Amino acid sequence: MKTRSIEKIVKPGTPHFVGDGFRVHNFIPGSSSMQRMDPFIMLDYNSKYNFPPTDKPKGVGVHPHRGFETVTIAYKGRVEHGDSAGGGGIIGEGDVQWMTAASGVLHKEFHETEWSKTGGEFQMVQLWVNLPAKDKMSSPKYQAITNAEMAKIQLPDGVGEVEVIAGEYKGNKGPASTFSPVNMFNVKLKKGAKTQLTFPAHYTTAILAVEGSVKVNESNNVLENHFALFKNDGDTITLEALEDAVILVLSGEPLNEPIAAHGPFVMNTKQELIEAFQDFNTGKFGYLED
Ligand code: MN
Repeated sequence: MKTRSIEKIVKPGTPHFVGDGFRVHNFIPGSSSMQRMDPFIMLDYNSKYNFPPTDKPKGVGVHPHRGFETVTIAYKGRVEHGDSAGGGGIIGEGDVQWMTAASGVLHKEFHETEWSKTGGEFQMVQLWVNLPAKDKMSSPKYQAITNAEMAKIQLPDGVGEVEVIAGEYKGNKGPASTFSPVNMFNVKLKKGAKTQLTFPAHYTTAILAVEGSVKVNESNNVLENHFALFKNDGDTITLEALEDAVILVLSGEPLNEPIAAHGPFVMNTKQELIEAFQDFNTGKFGYLED
């Protein structure tokens, strides 16, 4: 085991609104490139934010995606999703929506109607996971992953647990099916608890402190709502909770393929981007009611 050192710690930047329902800090690509973060191509983080009650749910209206997967992790609040491939549903605290846009969908995402009426604290991550070239034009798919379905591994002495959304922790597999090796965990630690995580050194690995602050590798503090990217110089990271903490851990094998990205389309070549726009403009992404 060799320590994987920190490449950079990123503080949450000025937030921007996606539609009127998601007030996010962008961490991926952020100050990195999509190539550096491969296979993770986008991460928007809605840190805790209070939405007032409303009868008109806030969110993002119909928009397209092609060539990747959108993963929404709900920490607080409830959201409702629909897509033109028939996928959709409501996710709430602790749940995950894993949508494979692949060949193309129209998508809409709003605060859930009932939740909107009371409003309250809202906290979510939306992550885009790139698809291998051979899968970019496969059929769209939707995975609703409830918190109860996730593998939960208790750490020794009751100091916390590792919740596995995707990938594998100590032989325990998460429920999400992925097209390339991706580990996605919520590591929940009580104040003072310490744990180690090991991933292959060549995997792109990062953490987001969703709740509380942690000391990483006995040396650097990653504060609440901050993001840290690791170098590829080792396989093991050590997390020690400075207070009760929830840490989103991402580690994925790079696809090492060319990336051509524009807005909601992420392909391998410019020509494929042009085709994506043409197919979208000629209605080949299907239909989704506003
Ligand atoms: Mn979307």
